[in-house]
Amino acid sequence: IRRIGILTSGGDAPGMNAAIRAVVLAAHQYSIECIGFFHGYNGLINQEYRLLDNSSVKDIIHKGGTILKSARCPEMLSETGVKQAVNSLIKLQIDALIVIGGDGSFNGMLAIEQHWQGQLIGLPGTIDNDLDGTDFTIGFSTAINTAIEAIDKIRDTADAFDRVFVVELMGRHSGHIAFNVGIACGAEQIISFENFNANDANKKVNEIVSDIKHHQSQDHQSYLIVLAENLWPNGAQSLSEQLKLQYSIDCGTCILGHIQRGGSPVAKDRLLATKLGVAAIEAVLVGKTSIMLGELKTEIEEVTLNDAVQHTKIVAENLVVAHENILALAAQNKR
Ligand code: ATP
Repeated sequence: IRRIGILTSGGDAPGMNAAIRAVVLAAHQYSIECIGFFHGYNGLINQEYRLLDNSSVKDIIHKGGTILKSARCPEMLSETGVKQAVNSLIKLQIDALIVIGGDGSFNGMLAIEQHWQGQLIGLPGTIDNDLDGTDFTIGFSTAINTAIEAIDKIRDTADAFDRVFVVELMGRHSGHIAFNVGIACGAEQIISFENFNANDANKKVNEIVSDIKHHQSQDHQSYLIVLAENLWPNGAQSLSEQLKLQYSIDCGTCILGHIQRGGSPVAKDRLLATKLGVAAIEAVLVGKTSIMLGELKTEIEEVTLNDAVQHTKIVAENLVVAHENILALAAQNKR
């Protein structure tokens, strides 16, 4: 192995820089040249790249975002785009490509696999934690800590006014962020893919209203509703408006949005990224291809790219049950 390529693709996630750093430092150990492509697959298609040496990854382990930039690249959805990407890999004599990203980015690798003989290694880099074959993705731990910190602040102001707040969290189509954050913040309601169907929105509103009324009649406290994005019909604002207009409930809305993507990665993400980055080079050296590396029960494991994107990893049932039990206990105590 003489030369590898690396890129970050899809939504950026804190810890991507730590992963780039680990890959580059490990590659250097084995005298492998490392080419960094910019702006996701766009850099590959347009041959926008630079050589990465040890000095280019100095002082980046603690930084959010990605020094290679990230982007969506619609061209990859056509065979012409994929072939352009493959031409670049061939022209630049890349032996292996390492992609740090989410399931979409891995589908990009699966498309490249159809036309290229080189090795393809994926590292799970997404705040959504929605990849199979790893307990956690790089960026998830930082994102939930960021959201928890923000919601603790919302709790303070909600408490001061005995207010209801709907807080919408990221997660695309999975509830890992909403459930973990909701429990850690002691949210009175968690509305997520695991426990809610959009067809039942009206039923859910009635349930929430009676719970809020009961809650407020007891001890006049704040009430937080944590909501996963892409779930409630017309979003968080619409739920808030309904509570306000139809039921005269003083309700604020906060859409945390992209704040959840930024910031310095927490220790857990830096360590995961570093371990997986080194493992990626080790996998390249022994000829592995079309795999994602992840960590399961503290062991580094590999899974095929196909298996990684199956979306079978669900929010741990014990979390869902824990949330329900906590609510039941809280209701008992109030009575
Ligand atoms: P995140 O979920 O964190 O945003 P992601 O990697 O899933 O990350 P996407 O926007 O879904 O983000 O995908 C990133 C890029 O991967 C796309 O812009 C596109 O270039 C490529 N890609 C996605 N799906 C495919 C596909 N089916 N075939 C080829 N390339 C794809």
